[in-house]
Amino acid sequence: MIIKDVVPKELAAGGALYVVATPIGNLRDISPRALDVLRSVDLIAAEDTRQTARLLQEYGVRTPMSAYHEHNETSETERLVALIIQGAKLALVSDAGTPLVSDPGFKLVRAIRDLGLPVIPIPGACALVCALSASGMASDRFLFLGFPPRHSEARQALFQAVSSEPGTLILYEAGPRIQDTLMDLNVIFGSERNVVLARELTKLYETFLEGTPTLLLKVLEQDPMQKKGEHVMLIAGARQQLTQHAQELEEAKEILKILLDELPLKQATKLAARISGCSRNELYKTALSLLERSSY
Ligand code: SAM
Repeated sequence: MIIKDVVPKELAAGGALYVVATPIGNLRDISPRALDVLRSVDLIAAEDTRQTARLLQEYGVRTPMSAYHEHNETSETERLVALIIQGAKLALVSDAGTPLVSDPGFKLVRAIRDLGLPVIPIPGACALVCALSASGMASDRFLFLGFPPRHSEARQALFQAVSSEPGTLILYEAGPRIQDTLMDLNVIFGSERNVVLARELTKLYETFLEGTPTLLLKVLEQDPMQKKGEHVMLIAGARQQLTQHAQELEEAKEILKILLDELPLKQATKLAARISGCSRNELYKTALSLLERSSY
């Protein structure tokens, strides 16, 4: 089916669904446009009406709400779709951030789109984008994995399946499971991949911790407070690891060139491996190809 916009955004006459992002901590992270929409719609479908009530109260929004969460998604989708068909304007919000990103809403959006009625995004906070933007991890390509499975075996199977993904891997994780997940990362990726733990974003105790899983596990052991709260976990992709390794090899090659001028092949390789930390076997092959290609 070809999807095209059927109605100009701000002028939607008749029924429409607005998918509205809300703050992930700091209540000021809401756009004026989002507030306009929340004030003007007929109904706000909220994942947790008590949680959203706090936001609405802060901004004096008095629009009626109804609950829309994973336990009533099927029955509520039918009811909300009927309202939109009758001409109602609805806003969908989740507890925090962008609806549908590890949050309910997919069934509703799909149903409204299938009817050719307007679904209008009102963008704003999203924990994974917020974390990625300030983490220092490669951001040109990433793979969002949502919440990893609860059991270690299934988690390890997931990490194995994405182990050659070149982009940054991003996970959502709840505080109590951070440690177990780091241990599983260690098992599958070894101790070399850099991980960033982005905690309590936009809140009082916002923290970014960076290091190998082994180092981060030590930090968590020494400072258990770092396990508390909400976390986004970013894991360097296979490409970043490769790039780092390739860089080390490049440096080792320069050392080799100098040593090969002065020493026999085996001795030069052994010394270059000790200086650079690269493997002797790998450097031996590099040295052979250098000798083949030049007058070393
Ligand atoms: N829809 C939300 C979004 O756009 O990011 C995500 C909802 S998901 C149910 C909740 C998870 O998002 C948390 O367990 C945590 O992993 C992450 N998260 C949400 N708020 C966060 C924050 N302030 N700091 C760090 N992670 C957060």
